Amino acid sequence: MRLTLLSAAIIGALMTPFTPHAAMSKSAANTSEPLTAAPSTFLFTARSTQWNYPTDVTAAQADDMATSLAAAGINLLLTEANRSLVNDWPSKPEAIDEIAQRGGAAVSERATKIVAEACHRHGIRLVHHITSTFCTKRYLDAHPEWAQVDARTGEPVFFEMYGGLWMLCPNNPEWRAFYIDQIGDFTRRTGVDGWMVDEVEFLPDWYSCGCKHCRAKFKAETGYDLPTGKRSDVWENFDSPVWRAWRFLCRHQSPPGRGGSQPDSGRLRGRCE
Ligand SMILES: [Zn+2]
Repeated sequence: MRLTLLSAAIIGALMTPFTPHAAMSKSAANTSEPLTAAPSTFLFTARSTQWNYPTDVTAAQADDMATSLAAAGINLLLTEANRSLVNDWPSKPEAIDEIAQRGGAAVSERATKIVAEACHRHGIRLVHHITSTFCTKRYLDAHPEWAQVDARTGEPVFFEMYGGLWMLCPNNPEWRAFYIDQIGDFTRRTGVDGWMVDEVEFLPDWYSCGCKHCRAKFKAETGYDLPTGKRSDVWENFDSPVWRAWRFLCRHQSPPGRGGSQPDSGRLRGRCE
């Protein structure tokens, strides 16, 4: 199993060469040369589209779709509409119970497995599109230590879009380890070939995230301590090097130390003062 970077949005793709099934359509076979190539080669020859498949998709429906895609020369399918992996996030508040009744992430797994199997029968790779930091209040209540928090108050942040969501912190090592484990499990259970991990972001404003892990990383990369409390001459003060560093105006211009070494905090700090 190899790790391949596809783009800024696609942060991880577990692309493994696979042998197209004997039942692969003739038209797909005509365009199948990249399917047996190494992942790095395949990425330059992928012909892709996406499918918003329903959670109750049947094997027959998936096979019909894969047949049509293969006939059109598609060799890479990106999933859509089944983004749940570790929690079920709705597009509107009233959908929470509806998603729970449908089975949420477990249903996504069942449907995605059906789609993956159909794709593989027709020589098509499947990249699964999922969310990461978005979660429901119900999920956050079960894992409060994973929350993105407001740097001023320490309270979990709330993002009003998509019907209202809470946020998990991508710098939390426990959350990251759990999430990656879930990706491995989902891969083994469904057979998907790659991943598009979406919503790796800090929201909803400049004060997210001020958890202990983000503070420690900020200190390590800049040498600065991030203040706490609502009153500080740092907050939204662009004359403050600490605020400029926090707003990434300096860090984004300063790559980490070379050769896998720790970031040069003195060099980063020098750019902010
Ligand atoms: Zn954090």
